[in-house]
Amino acid sequence: AKEEGRNTFCYFSAEINTATLGELLLENDLFGALERAELLMYYQPKVDAADGRIVGAEALMRWRHRERGMISPEQFIPLAEENGLINAFGEWAIRTVCAQQRAWLDAGLLVVPVAINVSAQQFAQQDLPNMVAHVLAEYGLPPQLIELELTESLLMRNSARAAAVLQTLRRMHVQVAIDDFGTGYSSLSYLRQFPVQSLKIDRSFVSQIGEHGESVRLASAIIAMAHELDLSVIAEGVENEIQARYLVEHGCDQFQGYLYGRPQPVDEFGALLAGRQLD
Ligand code: C2E
Ligand code: CA
Ligand code: CA
Ligand code: CA
Repeated sequence: AKEEGRNTFCYFSAEINTATLGELLLENDLFGALERAELLMYYQPKVDAADGRIVGAEALMRWRHRERGMISPEQFIPLAEENGLINAFGEWAIRTVCAQQRAWLDAGLLVVPVAINVSAQQFAQQDLPNMVAHVLAEYGLPPQLIELELTESLLMRNSARAAAVLQTLRRMHVQVAIDDFGTGYSSLSYLRQFPVQSLKIDRSFVSQIGEHGESVRLASAIIAMAHELDLSVIAEGVENEIQARYLVEHGCDQFQGYLYGRPQPVDEFGALLAGRQLD
């Protein structure tokens, strides 16, 4: 019986692949990430498509692990959604951005609105307007200085509740953008029910400009229809001049991408804001 037990164990452990084990270890560490102050915000500029001036930013979370170095949100956000940490992380994100905006304002910088990503799990579990209102009040921050990015798939999954939450946010003068647009296959008329101000064309479409005719036509169709709904359009993942030229010719309003600036540490972005006053 003893022999059998060991064989069973061996069989079982062989089933655990290294990816799973790595994920388990990571998940374990993730519980202490906030307490150990290992989460950081990077800031990526959003620019005006017409003149390239900075008109906003997106806050992108990073996890600086003591052994593994910088870990991408693509790895740890899904883990945080599974194990219930996402609410704490989401609140940390909003609080961190608001505190930073307050500090930049107090330093006399010409601040720009900063967008914060909201995860689907977080959206489902949290009273988002209430939490945002509390944090804005705590820092005495004008609501126009933050923006929330909600993915198209999040809105589709919770459409009735999402519409109600977005109404509340609009009354609070908090801007909302539909993120990853084009990946969820929803029609723009379907999106009419959501009071949002802008739409972000997903990087997967932008990256194909100059390569595949199909998604190029899709990008220009999205821009035209969004404008009919009075939405402003931002393209993410703009990496080269071909993409930028095509998008500006088709009326895209704002750009975000490596061509204009990578996500950067808070001090570097602060220096960029400080430079804005000079020109
Ligand atoms: P996203 O919201 O679609 O963010 C855009 C991603 O594209 C970012 O990846 C950004 O660094 C990257 N990117 C921007 N410009 C370019 C470009 O020109 N070329 C390429 N190749 N990539 C570009 P990142 O920072 O790794 O974030 C990945 C995803 O993680 C985000 O996708 C978002 O869904 C999620 N995320 C990041 N921060 C947060 C957060 O604070 N809360 C939540 N819930 N999710 C977050
Ligand atoms: Ca985003
Ligand atoms: Ca995206
Ligand atoms: Ca995304």
